[in-house]
Amino acid sequence: MLNPGQQHRSFIVRSKWLLPVTCRPLENAWLRVERGLVTGVGVWPPRSKNNIEVIDQGNTIITPGFVNAHTHLEFSSCQKPFDTKGGLHKWIHEVVSWKREQSRPSTAAHEKIATAIASGTHESAACGVVALGEIATSDIAYNEISGRLRLRIFHEVLGLERSTIKSLPPRVISSFRDSQKISRSGVAVGLSPHAPYSTQWHIGQAAVTAAQNNQATCQRSRSTTCVTPLAMHLAESRFEEEFLHNQTGPFRTLFNDLGIWPKHAPKLATTADWISLLAKSGRGLIIHGTYLVDNQQAMARLGCHRHTLALVVCPRTTQALSGKLPPLTEFKKTGVRVCLGTDGRGSNPDLSIRAEAACLIEAGLITPQEALPMITSNGAWALGFEHRTGSIATGRPADFVILKPSSPPKTSDRASAAIFDATTDVVCTFRGGRPLAGNFS
Ligand SMILES: [Zn+2]
Repeated sequence: MLNPGQQHRSFIVRSKWLLPVTCRPLENAWLRVERGLVTGVGVWPPRSKNNIEVIDQGNTIITPGFVNAHTHLEFSSCQKPFDTKGGLHKWIHEVVSWKREQSRPSTAAHEKIATAIASGTHESAACGVVALGEIATSDIAYNEISGRLRLRIFHEVLGLERSTIKSLPPRVISSFRDSQKISRSGVAVGLSPHAPYSTQWHIGQAAVTAAQNNQATCQRSRSTTCVTPLAMHLAESRFEEEFLHNQTGPFRTLFNDLGIWPKHAPKLATTADWISLLAKSGRGLIIHGTYLVDNQQAMARLGCHRHTLALVVCPRTTQALSGKLPPLTEFKKTGVRVCLGTDGRGSNPDLSIRAEAACLIEAGLITPQEALPMITSNGAWALGFEHRTGSIATGRPADFVILKPSSPPKTSDRASAAIFDATTDVVCTFRGGRPLAGNFS
């Protein structure tokens, strides 16, 4: 039996179905793993086994390990989401109050967040996830508690108080510094201007410059392509546009109530301008985008920058906060890659990326065949991990998941559908040929 933490082992795994994502499904398949890499796939039997141990997994399905492109793991200790009935602005009020409570005393807060993040990474791996796009609001040492998942840590920046690009708020400067520090320890970083209602335009411009500088440093030190993606919550509330144009409405009330409305009016930008700014980073992630379809200019910019943008939808959170699902039909027409995230347990009951996809499938917005790339190759691209994870192919790291459906699928379409069936279990999740969660024997 292989256990988490065990050294690399060579083996061939046999399964009923193998869905590599970048090529056609294989029935009665085998997958060979050596030194953490995939060294062959095919239809049973392999031409030579080279004395490598064969592990027959019977009626299982193998897919690439899943990618959850948007999380807030600091909420992973929440037993249930905060109240979402009043919409985003009321939910934010609850979250900020909770965070203020948690931060007393500040020494204990750090430990509580670290415990929650560790719990979230374990839950994710048990759900078949190998890579996460995480929004970081503190300087937690993610590299020490990640449970070996592939992580893209987006350091959050925001601020409404008076400042300029030359005199940024101290919290923004420390976020840039933390992102550089964590990058030096080997964790992939990104930056996250929080949202257009909470982040002034010049802070976003500074984030793009910092991302471009990080990229240049990375390119000088490594031979592989480097990206520092930018992720931003955009068009998440129907009240966002009113606030951006007039600085009035429920968001203004929220900031007044929280005591953070500044003396001088903040310098905010339009949704369309933020889309173009995110695209400048070379890889911009638009989180949610629920109300983008009401904004023609924003939709046009999406199409225009489709090669450097990804849309990350979090269906269950959107349903809870907005009472509707993300507009997948319109998003697909733009040509922008769409991937999925669970958001955090502050707005969602769990961290199951398969459940997010199932929500869209059940609503008839996507097919299971469309859903699989969304939670594998598209998510990997959004996080800048497209050369490391998101598909199964010879020569790539052996990142995959073994799933056990309640009954053996007879066709590849049924195998695709079974991935998202709630009765299908995750047997084992592998990163680089080593198990992250589950048992494999
Ligand atoms: Zn979020």
